[in-house]
Amino acid sequence: MPDGSNVNQLEQKDSKNRLRSTREVLNTMEQGVLVWTDDGVCEMHTDRVLKVLEIDSNALYPGITREEFLQMSVDRGEITSQTKDDAQSKFSMKATFAFDRVLPSGRVVSTNVRPLESGGFVVTFTDVSEARRAAQELEDAKKASQQAELKALRTLAAEQIWKNEAKLLAELDEWLQVCKSLKELYEIVGAFMPRILPATKGELYIYSNSRDVLDGACEWGGNNMHEHIAPDSCWALRRGRHYHHTPSVLGFCCDHVKEHTADTKNLDYLCIPIVAHGDTVGLLHVGFPEDALEEETEASLRFTNQCAEHISLAVANVKLRDELHDQSTRDPLTGLYNRRFFMEAFRNELNMSQRKDDALSILSFDADKFKTFNDNHGHDAGDMVLRAIGEKMGEIMRSDDVCCRFGGEEFVVLLPKTKLDDALTAAEKLRSAIEDTKIRYGSGNLPRVTVSIGVSSFPEHGNMPQDLLNAADEALYAAKDAGRNCIRSACAVED
Ligand code: GH3
Ligand code: MG
Ligand code: MG
Repeated sequence: MPDGSNVNQLEQKDSKNRLRSTREVLNTMEQGVLVWTDDGVCEMHTDRVLKVLEIDSNALYPGITREEFLQMSVDRGEITSQTKDDAQSKFSMKATFAFDRVLPSGRVVSTNVRPLESGGFVVTFTDVSEARRAAQELEDAKKASQQAELKALRTLAAEQIWKNEAKLLAELDEWLQVCKSLKELYEIVGAFMPRILPATKGELYIYSNSRDVLDGACEWGGNNMHEHIAPDSCWALRRGRHYHHTPSVLGFCCDHVKEHTADTKNLDYLCIPIVAHGDTVGLLHVGFPEDALEEETEASLRFTNQCAEHISLAVANVKLRDELHDQSTRDPLTGLYNRRFFMEAFRNELNMSQRKDDALSILSFDADKFKTFNDNHGHDAGDMVLRAIGEKMGEIMRSDDVCCRFGGEEFVVLLPKTKLDDALTAAEKLRSAIEDTKIRYGSGNLPRVTVSIGVSSFPEHGNMPQDLLNAADEALYAAKDAGRNCIRSACAVED
């Protein structure tokens, strides 16, 4: 039988052996294990802890206090002092908790604390670098896929907007291309713009022939169109490129806009010069709603510029067509219509008069003694007289009358819906106006030029164009025979 001290020695040896075998077991684990006593002193730790935390036995050993150990973790930058304070307070509450520490090497160690029933705490340290990296990678992948999805949606939405804009522009183009005149073009622009740029208002201005002002051509969304605006009242025209006035940027408001608005500060508008074949021919003004989102306005700006380009192109085409048409229908010296145009207009008007039982008259006139005039004053002076006669015709005759230079110094006027009496009155007005015209040439005035006029009317003098023209010419000869500078009416056709 062993005595008492032997029993004690045996028990101690047995307990040491158990402790060693427990440590051996614990050391085989992936995690490091550490036990704190109730009052915060390291009771034991496995060798694994040192490895997991990448420290040596100077930094952790049985007997070190928890405060010292945690402070060392703070000093090494593994945890913040806030984490340390939180941990200490949880220790004092005997709570179960966990936190991550990031080692100087970058590895991440999860620290899990559990209170023991017998008092004290067991702490495990687990290297979770791989798990955290995998989690981070998963998170990153998730974010990337969300961003890709968002981008795809945005691209899809942008494509949708682009498709819609392209469709609207194509529709606008289709209409603009069939415009026969600028008047038609203005009507189409006025009708289409509210569809293409809803919630905007605007106006289109086109330079007058004299180019000293721009005339209001059409408008939409408001009632702001001026009859005329001066070219220097618009910054876009003055700068020769589009001008965007926004509330967010200090900008100067165009004078033509100021006239309508007392408070111009918050205006968001765009003025774009309309350019045809390199020449500025007009101005497109578009006002955006004041409460529009910035990105909405951005998109509208881009689209408005596109619209302006399409309108410019259409204006250029119609103008070109007008010019070509003018070249084939007008006399270059006087700007009056030529014989070709007259004959076509005459046939159409006569048809209409016959259908509607309306009257129609023509004046045929010729400058008196013009050969002598040319001989005395030269061909250039003669040309000036012909131009002056053309201008007088434009002033005296009504806008529906078709004034034409037939050739040489012979002119014809078609007066739709006009009876013989009224035509004779118009002829007298014209004759006396030409007689009174003063024409400056060089340092003085040219001698007055007179005209002799023959008048014929439908139905009295015929119902075919050539018959009416012959009748007017005969009347003209009669006027010449009667001494010139006078008017004669054609003879009635005998039944
Ligand atoms: P009458 O009163 O009988 O008409 O006499 P007239 O001299 O005008 O007679 P006529 O019709 O024979 O002469 C026409 C002249 O007009 C001939 C030509 O010198 C002139 N003429 C024709 N075309 C032009 C033109 O484009 N420019 C100029 N300066 N003269 C022209
Ligand atoms: Mg003649
Ligand atoms: Mg003559």
